Amino acid sequence: MLFIENSYLKEFVSQVQKVENNSIVLEQTAFYAKSGGQPGDVGKIKLNEKVISIIDTMYDQEKNILHVCDNSNDLKVGEIIKGEINWEIRYKHMRMHSALHLLCSLIPYDVTGGQISFEKSRLDFNAEDKIEKEEIENKINQLVKDDHEISYQWITNEELDKQPELVRTMSVKPPRTNNKIRLVKISNIDLQPCGGTHVKSTKEIGEIKIGKIENKGKMNRRVNLLLND
Ligand SMILES: [Zn+2]
Repeated sequence: MLFIENSYLKEFVSQVQKVENNSIVLEQTAFYAKSGGQPGDVGKIKLNEKVISIIDTMYDQEKNILHVCDNSNDLKVGEIIKGEINWEIRYKHMRMHSALHLLCSLIPYDVTGGQISFEKSRLDFNAEDKIEKEEIENKINQLVKDDHEISYQWITNEELDKQPELVRTMSVKPPRTNNKIRLVKISNIDLQPCGGTHVKSTKEIGEIKIGKIENKGKMNRRVNLLLND
């Protein structure tokens, strides 16, 4: 999971560990596997002249990362390949994901769901009150402009269990690996467990447009968010 340490890694070298009909497991990878509302990466795996399109990346039951191809491939276990993620799409996911953390910090309700895509993202809040679109849009763009640093901290399962208030998302359990959980910290604005890929400062998010705020039931307000590119 090279993306955990370096979300800006676009290319990498790795060894084929397992090949199934239409998926490949690598010894290490920068391809983000679908989780926490963030889509899996797309991109290419190359071996000499051979180019295999990766159309999705996901975890299997054993938490292996599967690089899904559009048809079967003839890679062999042990071969050394070069991986390239589609950076244009991934970078938008990173900007979107970081923007959703800002949005989360501005709206003081529990998050019940969320979805990231490179065109439009959303968060669902467990809220009855009206959420003011213009006010949120102004505030989030101010946080972007102020250029806050986004960094990571690691805590143990026990430490997280003692601070349940850190978990804002009721529907997604934070990823736990080897008794370690990664916290994403946006200066003094937001701190929460998250395994997604983020930009390193809020300025990189760029201008945000708040889309429709939908009423999805008595206790559910859905806030849509777009990159104003
Ligand atoms: Zn997140």
